[in-house]
Amino acid sequence: MALFVNGCFWHGHDCQRGARIPKNNVEYWTKKIERNRARDKETLISLQKLGWRVHVVWECELKDHERLQADIQALMEE
Ligand SMILES: [Zn+2]
Repeated sequence: MALFVNGCFWHGHDCQRGARIPKNNVEYWTKKIERNRARDKETLISLQKLGWRVHVVWECELKDHERLQADIQALMEE
């Protein structure tokens, strides 16, 4: 299994932190994050084609340790 731990801002997570774009150079940041998202998607598809199970843990999910542990435990048992 490939487990990614993604920063919400850099990888454009669909959460409050991920939706934040710096006030300066909005176009630059929007394009940059879009490119990161597209690259992440390609990476995920490539790994899946090679037979990897892929799971993304988001930065914002790291705060709740109990839930994170339960989620990873469940993934390992699949
Ligand atoms: Zn997030």
